[in-house]
Amino acid sequence: MLDWSDPKAAAATIHPAFAGDLPPADATGLGTIERGGGRVRVDDKRMINARADVNQLLPLKYRWAWEKYLAGCNNHWMPTEVSMQADIALWKSKDGLTDDERRMIKRNLGFFAASESLVANNIVLAIYRHLTNPECRQYLLRQAFEEAVHTHTFQYIVESLSLDEVELFNMYREVPSITDKAAWALKHTQHLDDPDFRTGTPEADQAFLRDLVAFYVIFEGMWFYTGFAQILSLGRRNKMVGIAEQYQYILRDESIHLNFGIDVINQIKHENPHLWTPAFQDEVRGMIRTAAELEASYGRDTMPRGFLGLNAALCETYMHFIANRRCAQLGLQPVFAEVENPFPWMSEAMDLKKEKNFFETRVIEYQNGGALAWD
Ligand code: MN
Ligand code: FE
Repeated sequence: MLDWSDPKAAAATIHPAFAGDLPPADATGLGTIERGGGRVRVDDKRMINARADVNQLLPLKYRWAWEKYLAGCNNHWMPTEVSMQADIALWKSKDGLTDDERRMIKRNLGFFAASESLVANNIVLAIYRHLTNPECRQYLLRQAFEEAVHTHTFQYIVESLSLDEVELFNMYREVPSITDKAAWALKHTQHLDDPDFRTGTPEADQAFLRDLVAFYVIFEGMWFYTGFAQILSLGRRNKMVGIAEQYQYILRDESIHLNFGIDVINQIKHENPHLWTPAFQDEVRGMIRTAAELEASYGRDTMPRGFLGLNAALCETYMHFIANRRCAQLGLQPVFAEVENPFPWMSEAMDLKKEKNFFETRVIEYQNGGALAWD
């Protein structure tokens, strides 16, 4: 029996991408049905430029994609399950929060509010079309819903705390340190936005990889992590515990999104080694370095003075730690000098079962809180 969880076994039977003996199947799955066409063979399934019909889930080839779909379903939550009473009382109190804390909270919410929609739009309108594998698409459908839940979270927070929704949801265009990050990421999805864009040439396939790096590794895998650290650090001091609990759930979802993205990139590399040239590897490392610099300016802007246990310098160090870790996950050389993780409690924050008495809010038991296994 073919072990479809072993990428080496799968690779041994893969047809070269550009062999030309058969045209790639319709990538959307919305073309004409080929009556009497051959049955789908596992060997014909590929991450990009597949020949196999994308409408047929089985037989599975990429077990890791299916398992992430199941893990996402087991982690189901809704923002309205979290009580906001303590947050409302603290937010409305005169001296419960400093001006610096309020500035950080608002900008953090403003960054996430639009970012969740940017990530969702990129999945649905750019990635989904070109990832020609049904088990990966099954995960993308789950992820797209989770991004909707995350956007819902920010709507729920704004409504609960009676925040200025116009100010918050416009921050991604009006606060330069937030706009700079969104604009940088969008630059990498614009090629895919062209209706005539097709994968299948090395240039186009690398453009697709750039999009995956920008959104999965950098947006969700780097920038979101300092955003989580900011709010969870407040939660550790018993401030805004409802938002902190919601961020724990989002963090658990995002750690699976990130690791799905890493697996997708690594599998594409494995199937298309000609794309992963030394020059392209340098380019990806350069993207990660630039992203860390953009995050450092966002940190200085959101925390000009800093507070207990959290400041812009610590966040910059954390970003260097995370950037090197993402490089390692992609098989790249580190981009920064080795540093200690200044927020070791972040990995614990992902394990909700362990932390269930940490925040004094209602915590729901989940069938699977195993986010740690993904990170
Ligand atoms: Mn999200
Ligand atoms: Fe996500």
